[in-house]
Amino acid sequence: MTSPVILLLRRELRLADNPALLAAVASGAPVLPVFVLDDASPGAWQAGGASRWWLHHSLTSLATDLAACGATLVLRRGPIDVEIPRLVAEIGADAVHAGMPTEPWARETYHRLRAALTVKLTVHETSLLFHPDRIKTQAGTAYGVFTPFSRACLAQFPLAPPLRAPARIAGQNGVRSDALDDWNLCPTAPDWSAGLQAAWSPGEAGAIARLTDFLADGVAGYAAQRDVPAVDGTSRLSPHLAWGEISPRQILHAVGDHPARAKFVSEVLWREFAANLLWQHQDLPATPLRREFTAMNWRDDRAGLRAWQRGQTGIPLVDAGMRQLWQTGWMHNRVRMVAASFLIKHLLIPWQVGEAWFWDTLVDADLAQNAASWQWVAGCGADAAPYFRIFNPALQGARFDPDGAYVRRFVPELADMADRFVHTPWLAPNPPRNYPAPIIDLAAGRDRALAAFADLKQGAA
Ligand SMILES: Cc1cc2nc3c(=O)[nH]c(=O)nc-3n(C[C@H](O)[C@H](O)[C@H](O)COP(=O)(O)OP(=O)(O)OC[C@H]3O[C@@H](n4cnc5c(N)ncnc54)[C@H](O)[C@@H]3O)c2cc1C
Repeated sequence: MTSPVILLLRRELRLADNPALLAAVASGAPVLPVFVLDDASPGAWQAGGASRWWLHHSLTSLATDLAACGATLVLRRGPIDVEIPRLVAEIGADAVHAGMPTEPWARETYHRLRAALTVKLTVHETSLLFHPDRIKTQAGTAYGVFTPFSRACLAQFPLAPPLRAPARIAGQNGVRSDALDDWNLCPTAPDWSAGLQAAWSPGEAGAIARLTDFLADGVAGYAAQRDVPAVDGTSRLSPHLAWGEISPRQILHAVGDHPARAKFVSEVLWREFAANLLWQHQDLPATPLRREFTAMNWRDDRAGLRAWQRGQTGIPLVDAGMRQLWQTGWMHNRVRMVAASFLIKHLLIPWQVGEAWFWDTLVDADLAQNAASWQWVAGCGADAAPYFRIFNPALQGARFDPDGAYVRRFVPELADMADRFVHTPWLAPNPPRNYPAPIIDLAAGRDRALAAFADLKQGAA
């Protein structure tokens, strides 16, 4: 009898365009697909609350899809480098196939796994368009600036077509699995997931449906609408990408040669750029790339942090974004930039504190993109916004949400505000009583931030 093979699934929870799955099937052996809930190895970066909710539903969907093809998903909990060797011994497997890990903790865990295994571990590229080592400068170094990086990526186009999902998988049955419900991934007391439930359909079918909608309605207007938070002008594929329910190659292949493609492709390449940065700088989530920023004189402002987290800063665009995040697990990119800038610059709270809050609350939490984006806004990252670019949230609101439709949706206290005061209610003759006054004067906050960043520059000179 042929020995079975193990398919270790982690952030490639899909059947289509999954080279690890196809290699396992092509071996001709019975396949045991396994997901290991490893809360020990990631340290501070174990999946946050919103991600856990997503994971629960994504695994439910994956188990159904695999069962329809003949395979049974097995769930185990514990360190990956302990659980997988244990399963290999239990079922007498003679090979393990897995997707390529990109997070530092996962790379280390897979090194330990390889050392612990008595059978071959084959790692396949499953979540990126290109292995980070493939996109290098002519001198063989990693790119630190986006434009030449994206040019180097585009030089590798056209992409190979995505791989089809297997029609049948010879499954390995009779292996003990944890019950998903016993993992308690969904919140209970209190259950804050109703808004997430209403907004999302986790799983591969949900990802394909989202892509189909985007192709039908969104991609043509993408370049013009992607900065307008009130409209559904972006793909909202990010949580599906974060869990690998769809691959970037499938997305770009489907978008094809549409005239609106260039801007969209460029955004997907920002995702690759972030992954590349994390690959080269394993401490990206904690340490500024521009080391002089470690000397920054941050403030310990717990009340300010709490107001920001709860969407109670009195600055409408920031509050609308933070409430959208809390209700739906997602925030529009333009508003992410404004809310992050407000925390780092107006409140002078360390970017790592905001990064941790996003990690817990975003359904699309992704170690590379979250870290790279927070560093970008702070001005300490690769190709980052200069420190003196301090978004004025009132002006950003007037520009990208001119009639206040977005703000009114998430901050109902401002629903009846006249358009010209909706982003500056404190200037209205009768500001609403049930909405807080700004926790900081925007001009004073800007001056304080500029002074703090100038000190830093002087210290570095
Ligand atoms: C402070 C901050 C934190 C962020 N944290 C995350 C995170 O944890 N996870 C995450 O996926 N994105 C993060 N982003 C990037 C971006 O906001 C989201 O990827 C985007 O809003 C997702 O929505 P979408 O799928 O509709 O994007 P679309 O506009 O439809 O873009 C398509 C895809 O391109 C990629 N992309 C788009 N914009 C960016 C960007 N600015 N940087 C990198 N990749 C991008 C995403 O994978 C996205 O799904 C963060 C941005 C900021 C400013």
